[in-house]
Amino acid sequence: LRMVSSSPIGNEPVSDEELRPHVLDGFIGQPRLKAQLQLFLDAARKRDVPPDHILLAGPPGLGKTTLAMIVANELEVPIRVTSGPAVQHAGDLASILSSLDTGEVLFIDEIHRLPRAAEELLYIAMEDFRVDVMVGKGPGASSIPLTLPRFTVIGATTREGMLPSPLRARFGFTAHLDFYPQEELEKLIERSANVLGVNLDDGSAHELALRSRGTPRIANRLLRRVRDWAIVHDLIMVRPDDVKEALALYQIDSEGLDRLDLAVLNAIVRNFGGGPVGLNNLAAMVGEESETVETVCEPYLVREGFLMRTPKGRVATEKAWQHLGLTPTSDVSK
Ligand code: ADP
Repeated sequence: LRMVSSSPIGNEPVSDEELRPHVLDGFIGQPRLKAQLQLFLDAARKRDVPPDHILLAGPPGLGKTTLAMIVANELEVPIRVTSGPAVQHAGDLASILSSLDTGEVLFIDEIHRLPRAAEELLYIAMEDFRVDVMVGKGPGASSIPLTLPRFTVIGATTREGMLPSPLRARFGFTAHLDFYPQEELEKLIERSANVLGVNLDDGSAHELALRSRGTPRIANRLLRRVRDWAIVHDLIMVRPDDVKEALALYQIDSEGLDRLDLAVLNAIVRNFGGGPVGLNNLAAMVGEESETVETVCEPYLVREGFLMRTPKGRVATEKAWQHLGLTPTSDVSK
């Protein structure tokens, strides 16, 4: 799995595993989504058929992979994991599909990045449980239709809008994951602290959650850095001030904005007079891919009221100026 990250703290994709809940009950927050998913799974179990295909949409680190694994675990079926960029040719996907067993879950991360031919093959497979396998090469090549057992695709995407509608229409259930509110993050941090054996004093989870950008993956990552701090300083209990001090070292501010968030706001304000500025210009200015700025950075900045997307481009809000310690220039406010 490829993780998109702009954090200076590193990725630690392997350690995502140790903090992953395995049952729906252990999945923190997102109550409506959990209730919907529970019903969906219960119905499939009662009917004794593999459930419909599921699409999970939302910014990175909010629990899409975790949910996919929980679904497979709850259904007691194996899960096969691949991703859009890992599938280079339609044939790669055809061979995965033709090796699936009945009821198996196929998880496709970044499904919006599948090549076009693979996309077409996939939606036929999802609809008709059939795949056309090419035999031979050149003019003598022919395609043999192969019937597949019933299986469940779980697609994850940070850009639902990029999925072609025929593919999107093949999903019986689409879940939108949103940033986690402060209380849910605190619960998540307390759970993770238990797993990692970190002793958090009252208020420490709160300070951590404030800096977690509404994102479980970031909350867990920051918690590990705080654990390091506690180990190095021989702390038995981590107090809120320890959290502040430890995370100040990593330049995480109390609004949870990270380096890329701040670079984007700074660019809009300082280089483009507050905007509007087009996405591509903005991305070039901060030295990131447009997709990263759009899917990793902007959703949080918009939600927290630092940035607006307007038809003319991105605009920094007054809150953004203030956060950077500046006042909006007069020509921006008109
Ligand atoms: P995504 O696939 O959306 O990028 P992941 O599912 O890989 O995100 O989640 C990143 C990390 O955050 C994992 O370690 C996972 O255990 C943790 N996590 C995410 N959502 C939750 C949640 N609701 N409850 C508990 N842990 C979570």
